[in-house]
Amino acid sequence: YRLADLLIPNHYNGTLQEVLVPGGLIQDRVRKLARDIRADYGCTTIHLVCVLKGGSAFFQDLLRCLRYFHEFNDESYVPFTYDFIRVKSYVGTQSMDVKITGGDLKRMAGKHVLLVEDIIDTGKSMRALLPVLRKEGPKSLKVASLLEKRTERSCGFKAHYVGFSIPDKFVVGYCIDYDEHFRDMTHLCVVNQEGIERYRSISAAEEHAAMAAV
Ligand code: 5GP
Ligand code: MG
Ligand code: MG
Repeated sequence: YRLADLLIPNHYNGTLQEVLVPGGLIQDRVRKLARDIRADYGCTTIHLVCVLKGGSAFFQDLLRCLRYFHEFNDESYVPFTYDFIRVKSYVGTQSMDVKITGGDLKRMAGKHVLLVEDIIDTGKSMRALLPVLRKEGPKSLKVASLLEKRTERSCGFKAHYVGFSIPDKFVVGYCIDYDEHFRDMTHLCVVNQEGIERYRSISAAEEHAAMAAV
């Protein structure tokens, strides 16, 4: 198909290599994930924690699906509460360190926490984050990730719920960004070289100059 026919905003013309997962397919998959989650948790209250900002479209669509069960059948109603956190990970001397901002971590105590994340790539961020969250004393702690990359760099971490397994490519769209761009796309796409260059926060020339200065 032609990218131009796929409701991709004009301002992204020429910057995308392919549509990896169309928005409609994401919606279908999220609905099924919501059903799986309902089947597993039953009428136990889930405390959903959205990992900002990349996980936010997935989070909102998942919550909408969970709410709608209520309309069709009271018995399949899924009670939930939620919160938002931001996670910055950085490589320390030994392993990866994480810094969590926002959210009220204390509220995780005694709850069935389900983290809602955009992508598991190497899995190192989750490996570092989960032990920190466990210290807050949740009754259970699971991870739902929209995407999981097939990569040799994986540390072996597996999310409990995964939307799509994808090839090792840099993806954007559906609130997932490249330097804050592309979050406004409905579909999950792969950026091309032109896109990388157009939205790079420092130009290739500046980067080269910075390297030369070191
Ligand atoms: P990991 O620690 O699993 O290697 O990666 C953690 C985070 O890196 C992901 O949750 C995501 O925020 C970011 N990331 C990994 N792959 C991609 C990608 O293809 N595109 C974007 N925009 N972010 C990614
Ligand atoms: Mg993330
Ligand atoms: Mg990001």
